[in-house]
Amino acid sequence: MANSHLIPTYKRQPVAFERGHGAWLFDGDGNRYLDALSGIAVSALGHSHPALVEAITNQASTLLHTSNLYEIDVQTRLADRLCALSGMDAVFFGNSGSEANEAAIKLARLHGHNRGIDMPVIVVMESAFHGRTLAALAATGNANAQKGFEPMPAGFVRVPYGDIDAIAALEDHNIVAVHVEPIQGEGGVRVPPADFLPALRRLCDKRDWLMMIDEVQTGVGRTGHWFAHQAAGITPDVMCLAKGLGGGVPIGAALVASAAGELFGPGSHGSTFGGNPLACRAALAVLDTIEHDGLLAHAGAMGESIREQIEARVGELDHVVEIRGAGLMIGIELSEPCAELVDAAREQGILLNVTAGSVIRLLPPLIIGPAEVERLVDGVCHLIESMTTTQTMQAD
Ligand SMILES: *Cc1c(COP(=O)(O)O)cnc(C)c1O
Repeated sequence: MANSHLIPTYKRQPVAFERGHGAWLFDGDGNRYLDALSGIAVSALGHSHPALVEAITNQASTLLHTSNLYEIDVQTRLADRLCALSGMDAVFFGNSGSEANEAAIKLARLHGHNRGIDMPVIVVMESAFHGRTLAALAATGNANAQKGFEPMPAGFVRVPYGDIDAIAALEDHNIVAVHVEPIQGEGGVRVPPADFLPALRRLCDKRDWLMMIDEVQTGVGRTGHWFAHQAAGITPDVMCLAKGLGGGVPIGAALVASAAGELFGPGSHGSTFGGNPLACRAALAVLDTIEHDGLLAHAGAMGESIREQIEARVGELDHVVEIRGAGLMIGIELSEPCAELVDAAREQGILLNVTAGSVIRLLPPLIIGPAEVERLVDGVCHLIESMTTTQTMQAD
């Protein structure tokens, strides 16, 4: 990999995979790895799922791309399906999570301008992640990611995650929207207080603010619900999707309802690739498979089993701060930085991730089975336990 012509924006691990099957990836030497990350919540159906392969193959041999200058039947059908599942009214399709977030930010600004607010402000959260394009980056609560790219687009105010009182106390009359992840992903699999989303819904209604939810990581079955916010019994005005939606084919979406329902019109936004036949066909296959195979209940049950087993085995250890999450979005916070666990896990044949410095993040595919759960729990607990051993030895 020396002398690569790739711009080194990523710190890459020294492994390349040649093929995948179910929850497993295989490298060129025939080693297999349990994929507990799913390409960061993307490969929702695991690898080479027959239903997704069939849908993509079939669509590729029929029609890949036309243009949003024309009617696209499969895009219309996907929008109908997403609205039926979410209770939202309409969808704009892009190609990534950042693009979905850019659409949300533009919707909020239109909402403001329609109310006579010239300099609209969006409330965002500390340690939020919304993407790397400029406005999405400005909404992201990570100074390191922003560093060197100033000036950041203006129009954001930041509060502690999940703090409804901090939001209610904001007095800026230019506020037009609140944008929030229902569970923070990159920020450390952080779960807000149970009443946060319902209280935020009421506050947004009262102040005529758009309630915007970034479900790019939490959406499409990841937490055991179609969309994580549904567990709180609310409907947002804007919802962003991407990652798992295409099961590995790039697609992003911004869904709108009620107050946000009629902001975009002809010419107000666009995307060349957005919602093309291939991507939409893949997303429909993902949604069909989740439904037909009962993967919401399955993800909920597998996730609970993983969390309970890890809690039972290592929950009492001094350096385990908290085990949290929902469905198959799981964070294990340790009391010290643990980035080296990524290599240690991979060397044992498990792919996982560490985020926010000290949080082990597990995002296995929704199809993960009980035997794979056992392997995963055992591997992760072993890693956590061996950290104790090292510390104890050092202390002696
Ligand atoms: C990954 C992620 C994004 C950015 O998605 P990209 O497809 O990388 O642009 C935005 N929001 C959340 C919550 C994410 O997890």
